Amino acid sequence: MGHSTAVVWDEALTSYDLGPEHPLRPVRLELTIALARELGILDRPGVSILVPTAADDQLLGLVHDRDYIGAVKAAPDELIGRLAARYGLGTPDNPVFARMHEAAALATGGSVDAVRAVWSGAADHAVNIAGGLHHAMPDRASGFCVYDDPAVAIAWLLAQGAERVAYVDIDVHHGDGVQAAFYDDPRVLTVSVHESGRYLFPGTGFAAETGRGEGIGTSVNVPLPPGAGDAALAAAVEHVVAPAVRAFRPQLLFTQLGCDTHRLDPLAHLATTVQGQAAAHAALHALAHEVCDGRWVATGGGGYALVDVVPRAWTAAIAEMSGVPLAPGATPVDWHETVRRLAGRAGPSTLTDEVRPERPELADAVDATVAATRAALPDLF
Ligand SMILES: [Zn+2]
Ligand SMILES: [Zn+2]
Repeated sequence: MGHSTAVVWDEALTSYDLGPEHPLRPVRLELTIALARELGILDRPGVSILVPTAADDQLLGLVHDRDYIGAVKAAPDELIGRLAARYGLGTPDNPVFARMHEAAALATGGSVDAVRAVWSGAADHAVNIAGGLHHAMPDRASGFCVYDDPAVAIAWLLAQGAERVAYVDIDVHHGDGVQAAFYDDPRVLTVSVHESGRYLFPGTGFAAETGRGEGIGTSVNVPLPPGAGDAALAAAVEHVVAPAVRAFRPQLLFTQLGCDTHRLDPLAHLATTVQGQAAAHAALHALAHEVCDGRWVATGGGGYALVDVVPRAWTAAIAEMSGVPLAPGATPVDWHETVRRLAGRAGPSTLTDEVRPERPELADAVDATVAATRAALPDLF
């Protein structure tokens, strides 16, 4: 199939910088783009770079409260103490930083630009690795996220007249901000596969969270047990994500591809590999072509193994979107020089991971989780 894929990128996206000690650091974006470039993926036929534009107040206001946007703009100089705390800012997770509004608005604008490219037909697929900030709430920052770019981009789509949009989130953390934004909206299906909130931030995302009011039946959650790996992710995609999306018949598939389910991720306890994540990307890609004429938008999200996992996982996603999945092999020599320069250490030598056996005792727990999710949504499954 002939593909055109827009890759949202501008070095200005690295200005979303929460500080040198914070787990989310922009070097992961630079290393991803460098790896994709070295492998020739950005030069493939149909692949183009889309330079993002910042989201303005009207766009942000589709999701966020005016007071909150004003507080983010006031940071850091005029936002202090109790006022910051009211908006979730000035915490270890969400420190205030210089030009925070501009950086967050650009990351959000990138996701809106990606959706606009696909919705207008300018591109079949579009990806914003700087997006996926899925924890931000209408009135406050949360979980490293200032503005909720997936929610804003989807809200923009609804404002254009879209009738059904599916949001699929495979980040290790529950996509609580996006779920909350559309919890009572029957036009948006949200599906989140994550490590159970019993063990991990933000502590939500259970099977019983199925929507509210007119939105009942359009919120889907798969809370996986700690230790779950590639087989669990594949089962969740095959038995929950795919049938839910098929039943909903969206006009566009929006996916958040956080890669912090990886076994090396320092913030969580799942155990996927890069190739297990790539298999999920491939399944989502096939689903987009099956149900919505290929209209597929992807973002990054979490991922805190900044050198060892993020660049390979999201390069695999970009490769999948471009129409040719990444083949196993060595990481390019020139990329290693970039890793040394930007991260001061050696990078991973191969594009895929060593496969380790799944923990067999988890299979029953994963099956039970999938069954509970399906049972909670009898009209969808
Ligand atoms: Zn495609
Ligand atoms: Zn995450």
